[in-house]
Amino acid sequence: AIAVVASLNVDHIVHAPRIPEPGETLMGFSTSRELGGKGGNQAVAAARLGAEVAVIGCVGQDEDGDEYLEALLAEGADVTHVRRSASPTGRAAITVDAEGVNSIVVVSGANADIPAAAAAAAINELPGLRVVAGQLEAAPEATERAFAAARSRGVLTVLNTAPADDVARKLLPVSDVVVANEIEFRQLTGQDPFDGHGLRRGGAELFAAGCRWVIVTLGAAGCAVLDASSSTHVPAVAVRAVDTTAAGDAFVGALAARLAEIPGEPTTAAVVAACGFAAKVAAVVVTRHGAHPSLPTSAEVGDAGIS
Ligand code: ADP
Repeated sequence: AIAVVASLNVDHIVHAPRIPEPGETLMGFSTSRELGGKGGNQAVAAARLGAEVAVIGCVGQDEDGDEYLEALLAEGADVTHVRRSASPTGRAAITVDAEGVNSIVVVSGANADIPAAAAAAAINELPGLRVVAGQLEAAPEATERAFAAARSRGVLTVLNTAPADDVARKLLPVSDVVVANEIEFRQLTGQDPFDGHGLRRGGAELFAAGCRWVIVTLGAAGCAVLDASSSTHVPAVAVRAVDTTAAGDAFVGALAARLAEIPGEPTTAAVVAACGFAAKVAAVVVTRHGAHPSLPTSAEVGDAGIS
């Protein structure tokens, strides 16, 4: 089983010809409203792939919160550890331009209210736990305490350093696997992941902070998997991308789901294999629109003819 310390947001999306300049008012094409949040997306991604998933999070005492809880239940997720606080459910305001490029503002709301002690207690209570995943949209103290509890139980911790934020540094000592995209890797290490030396130097910095594997996702260029002594490139699957929303989240959810199936301590070869699977799942996601609607089941990953 896996647990995700998760941000749960409702996305309010505006489609416009371009992203407006500061102070500018622009006429858009259309609006939509969807469930999202990196943590929620990761949890749903893993659940659709057949993982047993528990969500540790917090929503408001509002209709958005009701809707998100129902959606997680419908995916078969355990929501026993999703609390409800007096703050509103987290929300993202997203503008997408005609090329599919987005700009996003996230307001944490209830996501900031996940109690750290309860998050740690949840990790200690959940049966059969193999992997705990987290990102930087949920309360960082809750993620840190949950990861520390997992570590002391021998449960593997997977930190997605998204969105880019210096708080990631505080979580590195309790993270076994770190998943960073190009921008996050640059911010965390000051190194260019497309340069072999930069990748090794940046990785070494993260290993010194306490993690064991670093995965740098590079969009259509795939990802690099580093351990303290080696670096392996895992290519992306060539597809025609229409919307990259949730590609990174699907990658993390799929990685966590696969790592949870490994008996005992993972090896670097097992982490590389799990990244190969995650790349297939993410490739399906980029061929579809939206966040939750784009997340595939295992059968759909097979049917997509991606190998
Ligand atoms: P994020 O969305 O967090 O910035 P990336 O853009 O690095 O993350 O994408 C995560 C993973 O999704 C990549 O490692 C790759 O496997 C897959 N992916 C992303 N974009 C594409 C694409 N255009 N074609 C195929 N796979 C992609």
